[in-house]
Amino acid sequence: MTITGRQAGAVLEKLADQYRAELRDEELGEPDTSYSREPFDQFLGETEPAPLSVVNLAAIPVHDWGDLRVSKLSKFADVRWDWRQEGSPIYKDDTFHNWNVNLEKDLPLLVDEHAPLVTLLRALLFYCTPQNAVFLKVRSFNSTAGAGEVMTMLGRFLIYHGIYVDKHCVGNFKTAVDLTPETFHAYFEGLKSVGEKIRFMRHVRHWWQLSQAKLLPAEFQLGYEVFDREEIAKVYKECDDSKTPYQPISLETLSSMVSHCLKVIEDYAEDILFAYDLFWPALTGAGKKAGVKFDWHTALLQLEQRKSSLWDMEEFLDPHHHMPWRAAKNLRQEIMRHPGWKESPFHRTPTALYRTPLETVKYIASEFGIDVKKSNRAILYDVKKVRIAVMNMTTMMRDACTVIIFLVTGMRRSELANLEAGKYRQTPGGHRLRFKVFKFSDGSQGDEQDIPIPLVAFKALCCMERLSAHARRVGETNYLFAGATLIFGKQISLGSINGFLTRFCEDLGLEELIHPHQFRKTLAMFFIYQDTASLPLIKRLFSHKSLKMSLAYVTKLPGMAQEVKLALLEQNMELMSELLEAAANGTIGGSAGLRIKEQVRSGKYAAVLNDDGWETLEQYVDSMLEEGVMLLHRASMGVICTKTLSVDETAPCDPPYAPKIKRLHPNVQNCDPLECKWAVFTENSVSKLQNNIKAHQIWRDHPYASDRQKRFSEKTISSCLARLRELGVVDGSDQAAFSTVERTA
Ligand code: SF4
Repeated sequence: MTITGRQAGAVLEKLADQYRAELRDEELGEPDTSYSREPFDQFLGETEPAPLSVVNLAAIPVHDWGDLRVSKLSKFADVRWDWRQEGSPIYKDDTFHNWNVNLEKDLPLLVDEHAPLVTLLRALLFYCTPQNAVFLKVRSFNSTAGAGEVMTMLGRFLIYHGIYVDKHCVGNFKTAVDLTPETFHAYFEGLKSVGEKIRFMRHVRHWWQLSQAKLLPAEFQLGYEVFDREEIAKVYKECDDSKTPYQPISLETLSSMVSHCLKVIEDYAEDILFAYDLFWPALTGAGKKAGVKFDWHTALLQLEQRKSSLWDMEEFLDPHHHMPWRAAKNLRQEIMRHPGWKESPFHRTPTALYRTPLETVKYIASEFGIDVKKSNRAILYDVKKVRIAVMNMTTMMRDACTVIIFLVTGMRRSELANLEAGKYRQTPGGHRLRFKVFKFSDGSQGDEQDIPIPLVAFKALCCMERLSAHARRVGETNYLFAGATLIFGKQISLGSINGFLTRFCEDLGLEELIHPHQFRKTLAMFFIYQDTASLPLIKRLFSHKSLKMSLAYVTKLPGMAQEVKLALLEQNMELMSELLEAAANGTIGGSAGLRIKEQVRSGKYAAVLNDDGWETLEQYVDSMLEEGVMLLHRASMGVICTKTLSVDETAPCDPPYAPKIKRLHPNVQNCDPLECKWAVFTENSVSKLQNNIKAHQIWRDHPYASDRQKRFSEKTISSCLARLRELGVVDGSDQAAFSTVERTA
């Protein structure tokens, strides 16, 4: 069989297409119906009814809004909303929003005629702060700052239509009533990126929700629904689809994510699990079903007693001393038990006391010297705030565990959703995880993989096991990611995973919003594109016994083989094509070249050629990539060096000063290929071999040449001739060879 370089190239292209198709299949083939079956509320963060007692701007005259606090440092009317003294110790949300911006070039936002617009935008952002976010899940001020940028976009749209612009500064301006849903849609369609579209529609919907809840005065309300849930979910899906082919996560994003996740798992997991164990019945409403009695007072007392930098009990204080119904009942009973009750001027029948307003009951209690706050912590603290705080911490820990597990295993969403408790273990060599493969493009669906994992992933899995323990018991399931807060006890859906990763990125103030599949890409990127010298690091990280094991691990990760093969093929297309052509037409030399020639000519690869030889050739290249993970290098004298990652034998290019060091990859700058077992000589090397012979002939024959030089030149000439013979260029004596050498001046 002989082939041309073009034909070899065609075979390689065909193989590359096949790998690409398999990868595409894997990336897109995961049937994701979750966007349609997912409760949109959860996806959009709307499941829960407004849990906080927020400031109702509609109940306050607009001219008094300016004095409202938006942070410890800033008021509503300030040019800069500064949140740098706020936030959780781990989100590092030391951020701010500056209202002094240009909507367009030479069009500042802060001018007198824009006063109504600025008021509206401030009001919308006010409801995006964690303490006032009624309809959005806002866990950190990073998310608020991100929403601030969207306000500029919304402002641009409204200005463009002359809405909320008080041209003569007399208090006259057009409002949202003067717009139609179509105007919003037209602007939306004109937005360049799908990311901008999502942010715009989310905040328009948020405006509508605030209006529906009458949290804005009439003139600032958006009285019609512009984007419904289905539309938003559809654009979210488009956003995810637009990310294909998925790119690896940038190092900048990765470093923020990983350091945050490690901190959560290493430093805060115990505190979070402690708080969750106290309050899970209150978070989920499933205490009764689980046969667990929940008492706010006891739980709050224990929370108070545990010192953690994650919570500050002062922040939970309720200045209004609201109380849950059970606490109110207990207080009334305590009043009735008081020895002076019957004689007191407040005395009334039990029924009347139960009908007495809570404020009066609290007053009576204080007259009797009953310390309502001490006797019941649920009165001292705002239980809704506590509930939200614990919910946020729990979610944060789940997200951190998810990121770490994705990052070190590169597993698919479906595999994460189907992870089971107890399927990971400590072994003498480290830690391992067993999980089911969920690949839809071939028959490997349901196969089990057993892979080594680093300690931090093991810790993340243990955290998830503890976090989901109640959910698994109540939901009678063994899924590790069974819902621990919302959708309690149910298996997590694929769409939710995308949704919570997006929110996780927003909370961290990251610009990049991550899709789960990007973790696979990132892992592959590290393994493939990193200098191969990093392999020992991988070995150490994964506690492997040998480098070979590390390499096997990399290529055996789900989907990695295709990634690796495709990347190697693409990187080495030219050299591989040259090598194949040389092997097929016999002009190949060197120990490695002769081995390859033998393989190509053996019955295994060439005797029975189906499809005119193409199929066999494809199998050959595929097997090379499969077994050798071949990385080809162009080395000295135009040879193709085939020393691979998996080879740790010595080579002539190894540094002489440390002969015992086994290098993982060739040191091509020091290449001495004539007798190297990894060198492949092709036609490319012919002229270089011939010129080498010529040069050494001159040195050998020079009158001043030492004996040592003469011996060396003789040896080199002999090696060059041997290679030329293998290439079929000479078949006789030195003389025949010399006659082919071009003489230079
Ligand atoms: S000497 Fe080193 S670089 Fe040259 S062919 Fe051999 S292994 Fe490759």
